[in-house]
Amino acid sequence: MESRADLVVIGAGIVGCSTAHRLAQMGWRNMVVVDQGPLFETGGSTSHAPGLIFQTNFSRAMTNLARETVQIYSSLKLDEVPCYYPVGSLEIAYTEVRLSDLKRKLGVARSWGLDAELLNPVAVGEMLPLLDQSKIHGAYHVPSDGIAKAVRVCEAMSREVGDAASFYGNTVVTGFDIVNGSLQGVMTSRGKIKTSKVLVCAGIWGPRLGRMANVSIPLTPVQHLYAITSPLRELAGETREVVHPILRHQDYAMYVRQQGDCYGIGSYKHEPLLVDPDDILSPADADEAPAILKFTPEHFEVARQAAVELIPALGAVDLTYKINGMFSFTPDGMPVLGESAEVKGFWVAEAVWVTHGGGVGKAVAEWMSNGTPGMDLREADINRFPPHAHATNYVKTRGAQQYREVYDIIHPLQQMEHPRNIRLSPFHSRLLDLDATFFESAGWEKPQWFESNRSLLQTYNPPDRSGWEAQNWSRIQGAEHLSARESVCLFDLSSFAKFEVEGEGALDFLEGICANRIDHPIGKVTYTAMLNSRGGIKCDLTVTRVGPGKFWILTGGGTAAHDLAWIRAHAPENGSVYITDVTSQYCGVGLWGPQARKTLSKVCAQDLSNHSFPYFTAQEIWIGSVPAVALRVSYIGELGWEIYCPVEYGQGMWDTLWEAGREFGIFPLGGGAFNSLRLEKGYRLWGADIHTDYNPFEAGLDWAVKLEGRDFLGSQALRKLSAKPVNRRLTCLTLDPSEGVILGKEPVLAQNSVIGCVTSTDFGYSIGRHIAYSYLPTEHSAKRTSLVVEYFGQRIPATVAGEPLFDPERSRLTS
Ligand code: FAD
Repeated sequence: MESRADLVVIGAGIVGCSTAHRLAQMGWRNMVVVDQGPLFETGGSTSHAPGLIFQTNFSRAMTNLARETVQIYSSLKLDEVPCYYPVGSLEIAYTEVRLSDLKRKLGVARSWGLDAELLNPVAVGEMLPLLDQSKIHGAYHVPSDGIAKAVRVCEAMSREVGDAASFYGNTVVTGFDIVNGSLQGVMTSRGKIKTSKVLVCAGIWGPRLGRMANVSIPLTPVQHLYAITSPLRELAGETREVVHPILRHQDYAMYVRQQGDCYGIGSYKHEPLLVDPDDILSPADADEAPAILKFTPEHFEVARQAAVELIPALGAVDLTYKINGMFSFTPDGMPVLGESAEVKGFWVAEAVWVTHGGGVGKAVAEWMSNGTPGMDLREADINRFPPHAHATNYVKTRGAQQYREVYDIIHPLQQMEHPRNIRLSPFHSRLLDLDATFFESAGWEKPQWFESNRSLLQTYNPPDRSGWEAQNWSRIQGAEHLSARESVCLFDLSSFAKFEVEGEGALDFLEGICANRIDHPIGKVTYTAMLNSRGGIKCDLTVTRVGPGKFWILTGGGTAAHDLAWIRAHAPENGSVYITDVTSQYCGVGLWGPQARKTLSKVCAQDLSNHSFPYFTAQEIWIGSVPAVALRVSYIGELGWEIYCPVEYGQGMWDTLWEAGREFGIFPLGGGAFNSLRLEKGYRLWGADIHTDYNPFEAGLDWAVKLEGRDFLGSQALRKLSAKPVNRRLTCLTLDPSEGVILGKEPVLAQNSVIGCVTSTDFGYSIGRHIAYSYLPTEHSAKRTSLVVEYFGQRIPATVAGEPLFDPERSRLTS
């Protein structure tokens, strides 16, 4: 075996093979792919998967990865035998509720550009005559879904890779050589390979390999049962691999596929059966196949009965092949992709289904080659997890829940139930006293609205909701919104991430990764994006200069780990810059509203006038006896400050401000109102309105880009982009019917064609209209253009509006 390689890929399952295949196409050479099992029936999950591919996902990234996968598998043959069978899929509606949800699913499919349709029971019966149509209300049909022969894909890919990579079976990786945080080599049962790059595609063995390098790969293997029947009389003589559409019966967490003259049945309909990664041996150490456990009929029976109810012919056959395999579930159900922040050169592609294998291989190959994956993969980034998400009990609890919910109807605002109360702000007891309803984000308990504000409904009369739209929502949010525009509110900002960037190289470093100028006088706050090399928006945050060589970066709590990893990855290694995450040292509040200055003035001796403390500046202040840093900024578009103080002073700060604001009607503001307030002001939300798929020009953030005479990460790409006209633009719409409500990701149509999808949406209580943002082709983005938003199959007229919808002169912010 080679003693040197440009890259070692660990795992010759679908992910390892797909990535090596794509890298070879991109010109990589001198790669080594090793697997502990025999090639290509390695004994990993890929060898056990029946290969159903359902492309539709409420995540656009996952849908795109699946679409890429279908294209890639479709292009492959092994000895003239296809690797992919596009027989189509049916997701049946067993209940009216499911039918309604399938309409929503059809909406996202249209948003993501995937061809799909809803069928009535008769049409479903024509497609799958074995199905008892009387049991269903209809089905969601995707013609390009189908069956992948995953092991065949691996072998076909390895042949195409040719001599760009050497593949070795029965070769176990036993450790890594890491020096000063950089990978130097991979130890295997056949000797050491010197290399500066490794890609871990080890599936359920991933956490063990991660641990060998001190890199956490937070996933849990979960058992999964699948069985194939004896031949069906109705299919006698059928020898083709598959011709019937694949089928999902989500209300019974079960799926089926035809396989020659038999049927295969898979079940999620049982309590999750977790496996400890340390209990899964390598094939060399195991007496039997290590990734297969005893088939437990008690965990399969409900699914089998449901299959028989739908397809009565299955009642007359036995289960002849039964497998209890396992595959990976992460705390949020998404893959784990990218280069570890801990070890340079240690790449990971884990928790990936066959459904996404090809697309993931392509994206990871591009990422390794060009520094960006070529599409927005923030939801799957290895560096997205907050610290607690690496804890074993968290990984298990959340992984199990992902398995349980894999086919559930999930409301966009649905909150996880366990574990909760992981991260609490120092104001938490006050928030409890005020009867907050909490939403969770990155472990933080964040008030969404406050029952104590119910009395505001005597003053304000926001519109009500019912049904689906009213779930995880309260009319009180509307009252909080309207009150924030008239009095003064306190908003818990403790979850905001705070990073200190310090040192003689700090200014140059930040100037080199920020699209806006950072070289401003001490006390200046700057809003900026950080871009990737393609000009896509990687992070958006504020940078405050607090000293000659000292800066404070503030960013959202949900993106903290992701943003910090990005910043650290680009920092110089010569000791001229220190980056410290001080999130846990400081808590914060937003004190906002027309009465904010009067409130703060009562407890702060400093001159808070507009002249002495202008918009977008920061100062150290005292609130009573609490030392604090105040930033004159507001994401809700009102006069006010973000105020941060050391955690131990937090409760005192809250109480002092609360007392001071009493005479002005101070009240606690929840996250629900915060969102509708920011949308009225047109403030972009990273992860929804902006991310790496969009550049600042399309996002309407030109004003925060300073290109002239500067060279920063992404500036070359922006220069090229700025030479061309923008052809899509983030556009503000309002729904025409005053009672219209949508929840996000809906398709936007012009003349019956989908031209965009909703990135952010909420009711604008001050303007009395429902707001939706969407990237639209520029020819459809002019003010007063009439469009349509499709919601659960209903068409709601909408009109392009000028933005921001509220206080466009910014007189409130700058008063
Ligand atoms: P694997 O295929 O497990 O490959 C990892 C490889 O790494 C293994 O070959 C292993 O031997 C090797 N390895 C591990 N440790 C080492 C080491 N130390 N040294 C060397 N090599 C090592 N997905 C779908 O999309 N559709 C389906 O219908 C479907 N059905 C499924 C049904 C069952 C019963 C199961 C178990 C899974 C199913 N899946 C399905 C999930 C899918 O199979 C997996 O998610 C996918 O195959 C994972 O691919 P992988 O390449 O990451 O992992």
